Amino acid sequence: MKSIAAIKLKIPYKKELLETMKQYSQSAQYALDIGWDNGIYFKKEIHHLTYYPIRETLGLPAQLVCSSRDKACESLKALRKTKKPTKPRFKEFLTIRYDARSFTFKKNFVTLASVNGRTKINVEIPEYYKQYLSWKPRSADLVFDRKKRLFLHITFFRDIDTPINSDGFLGVDVGINHIAITNNRQFFSGNKIKSYRLKYKRLKAKLQAKGTQSAKRLLRKISGKERRFKAWVNHKISRQIVDNCKAGTIALEDIKGIRSNKGRKFNFWLHGWSFYQLQNFIEYKAVRKGIRVIKVSPYNTSQTCSKCSSIGSRSKGFFICSHCGYSLNADLNASYNLAKQHSNADVVLEKAKLFRDTGNQRFPRVSAAVTQPHIQANELEGSLRTIESEVMDKSQLL
Ligand SMILES: [Zn+2]
Repeated sequence: MKSIAAIKLKIPYKKELLETMKQYSQSAQYALDIGWDNGIYFKKEIHHLTYYPIRETLGLPAQLVCSSRDKACESLKALRKTKKPTKPRFKEFLTIRYDARSFTFKKNFVTLASVNGRTKINVEIPEYYKQYLSWKPRSADLVFDRKKRLFLHITFFRDIDTPINSDGFLGVDVGINHIAITNNRQFFSGNKIKSYRLKYKRLKAKLQAKGTQSAKRLLRKISGKERRFKAWVNHKISRQIVDNCKAGTIALEDIKGIRSNKGRKFNFWLHGWSFYQLQNFIEYKAVRKGIRVIKVSPYNTSQTCSKCSSIGSRSKGFFICSHCGYSLNADLNASYNLAKQHSNADVVLEKAKLFRDTGNQRFPRVSAAVTQPHIQANELEGSLRTIESEVMDKSQLL
C-alpha cells in the first residue's frame, strides 16, 4: 500500500519564480485556447499543436510547458461535464505543478525549474516535517497566495508493506452526538464542539449581515480559524483512536452519500463537521501503522441489535431492540456492529480500491494533508484547552 503525505513550506519571494508562474499561466492559456478552438482535449493532440510554438515564444523549460499543457487539458476535460461552458481564464500567477523531474528536495534546500534554469532555494524544514525526509518526494505545487506569499506544497510517498498480523476489528462510529465512538469504549463527546460551532455560526451570521469590507475580511479570517480548529480536533481524535487500536482492522461506516431529510438544523450538524476528514485522518494514520481500514455499508449498522442481530429502533440517542429488549447508546451499538466480523459483501472500501488497482493507479492510496504545524495553538488557546479535555474525556455513558 502507498501512503501519501503533503507538507506546506513557505519560501522566500523570488522574482524569477513569479516570472515563471506568469509564463506558465500564458503557456497553459495558449494550450487551452487551442484545445477550445479545435474542440480537442487529449494531451497528445494538444501537445502536437502547441509545444513548439510555446517553446519558441516563452522561456519556459520543457517540463513546465508539458505540465501547463496538462493543466489546460484537465480544465478542458472538466468543462465537458458542464452544460453551458465558458472559456476559462487562468490567473496571472498560475500555481505550477512540478513533478519528480522538475524539482528536487533535499534536507535544507529545494531546486525548482524556472525561466532561469534551476532555482535553488534554501529552506528550513520544521521539526514536525522531518519525519518525511526519508520518504520519496513525488510532486510539488508552487502557490502564490492572495497575500502575495509563495508556498511550496510538497507531496511525499512511501510504500507500506507492514504485514497485518493481528486479528479482530475495531469499530469506529462517527456522528453528531459523539464525534466518534469506538467499540473499545472510547467516547469523544461533541457537546463542547457543538457550543463552539454555534458561537461561530452566530458570529458569522452577524458579520454577513453587516456586509462591510472589514466584516468580510474578518469573516474570512474566522472561516480559516474554524477550519483549522476542526482539523486540529480531528487530528487529536484520530491519533488517539489509532494509538489505542489493538485490532488488525479498523471498520468505518461508509458515510459517502449520506443525505438526511431531517431538516436544515440537522444538516448543519451533519455536514458542518468534517466527518469525512476525520475518517480520512484515521485511515492514513492507521495505514502507517500497518492497520487495515475497511469501510462498511451503513445500511445495517445503526438499526441492527449488536446482541441478537434483530432490527430495532432508535430514540433519543438510544437503541432499543424490539426482539430481545437490549438497550444501549445508539452510537455505541453501531460501533459494536462495525466491529463484528464482516463478510466481503459488506465491505465497500476495499472493493473500491481493487477497482482503482486495475485502473491507472497501481496501488491503493491513502493520503491526507499534514496540517499540524500550521495550527497555532495560541490562536484559540482559551477555548482549545477546554475542548481538548472534553475531547479526551472518556466518560462512561452506561
Ligand atoms: Zn436484540
